[in-house]
Amino acid sequence: MGIGLRVKANSQKFLKKYVLDEGLCTDCGACVGLCPYQAIYHDRTVQLHNCDLEDGKCYAFCPRTATDLAALRKHLFEPDNLTLEIGAVKGYYFSQATDPELRKIAQHGATVTALIEVALAEGLIDSAIVSSRNEEFMQNGAIINDRGALRKNAGSKFTVSPTVAAFNQLVTEDRGTIGVVTTPCQALALAKMKLVKEDNPKIGQLKLVIGLYCGWTLSAEKYTKLLLEKNISPESITKMDIPAGKNILELFTNNGVKSIPFDEVQECIRPSCNYCLDSTAEYADVSVGSACFAGDWEDVRQWNQLIVRTAKGRELVDLAVKRGVLEIREAPAESLKELKDAAEKKKKEALKNIIKKSGSVKKLLYLDSHDPVVKKYLEVRGKNRTEKKK
Ligand SMILES: Cc1cc2nc3c(=O)[nH]c(=O)nc-3n(C[C@H](O)[C@H](O)[C@H](O)COP(=O)(O)OP(=O)(O)OC[C@H]3O[C@@H](n4cnc5c(N)ncnc54)[C@H](O)[C@@H]3O)c2cc1C
Ligand code: SF4
Ligand code: SF4
Repeated sequence: MGIGLRVKANSQKFLKKYVLDEGLCTDCGACVGLCPYQAIYHDRTVQLHNCDLEDGKCYAFCPRTATDLAALRKHLFEPDNLTLEIGAVKGYYFSQATDPELRKIAQHGATVTALIEVALAEGLIDSAIVSSRNEEFMQNGAIINDRGALRKNAGSKFTVSPTVAAFNQLVTEDRGTIGVVTTPCQALALAKMKLVKEDNPKIGQLKLVIGLYCGWTLSAEKYTKLLLEKNISPESITKMDIPAGKNILELFTNNGVKSIPFDEVQECIRPSCNYCLDSTAEYADVSVGSACFAGDWEDVRQWNQLIVRTAKGRELVDLAVKRGVLEIREAPAESLKELKDAAEKKKKEALKNIIKKSGSVKKLLYLDSHDPVVKKYLEVRGKNRTEKKK
């Protein structure tokens, strides 16, 4: 290499070196569908051919490459709304769809499906991308325009669903405005796309991001193996959940309800999730998770936690309430505190894992140690370690 020759570390080659080979890829799908060389095989992102472009969109959009998170927060949110633990909060509620039939088929309170239904019906978006399962028990992003298909794809699947790859596919076609349901890493990829508009003019079509809280996703291979060991056919599963306080994975199947101890499920968690700091989809317009309050789980299950983060998110939630599709209740302060504590725990754990992997507190893989949030948790870590030594 000639002296003075500038080498850009933002090509497909470096995506392989720093993300794929390092086991950091979340399979969000952001690098897939932009060119023919990046593809998804089952739940793995693979490179079919080398690309010699110096500046790859694949590298730029990846949530696991260096990101100026402070610039992203500034671009997307009002500074007064920002919190260290869970990102921007304009409003925090318990919520549920008013339609009991929808709640029956949805994961929890059906807030996500109800919000997308309203966004489609009111013309806020022309199409939605949600997660759909194929006959091989793999998930893909499905492009949806009608209520029936939306309801068919309600519920959580705990293996990866590369919805951002579907977004990349959609923006090459003229399908109007789009709303996407995402995990936190996928919301971050879409947020990165918003920041580099000049490379990606069709990003203007993205009008709504509904984020899901996320603790982890499961490796499809390991999870399928575990199911087969338990004599559970993957195709028979209609719904899955982690009921609060029970430490099990609950599987609703065509042959009744089955459960697997969570310790066994834990073995199937994708290693890349260990380096994830975001549990609440901080870069979405609204974020939705399961509710957590004292009471019978069958009642609690029918509610969500809902964080409104942007003006667009506020507009949608207000409209859904006005149309009688969504019920919201102000959530108590202790619930917000619990959520922040849990989010903080994930951040600290991920940072610990990142430092362990890189071998140095100065090398934070895809994170910038000067980012205010990262800096805060590095300081907390340093303080805790000093106190332990005393
Ligand atoms: C992998 C994963 C991990 C999660 N971890 C947590 C957690 O730790 N704590 C918590 O409170 N909540 C978690 N959730 C969120 C929770 O399971 C519900 O999605 C959320 O409470 C919304 O409920 P709902 O009734 O409004 O959803 P619904 O109205 O049923 O809508 C769910 C939407 O999510 C989409 N979807 C399903 N699976 C995926 C996927 N793998 N990737 C992208 N989109 C998907 C569906 O297509 C549907 O549009 C997780 C979700 C997923 C997918
Ligand atoms: S963009 Fe997403 S799928 Fe592609 S390498 Fe990065 S994390 Fe993996
Ligand atoms: S834990 Fe993080 S990296 Fe893993 S799927 Fe969820 S958001 Fe993505």
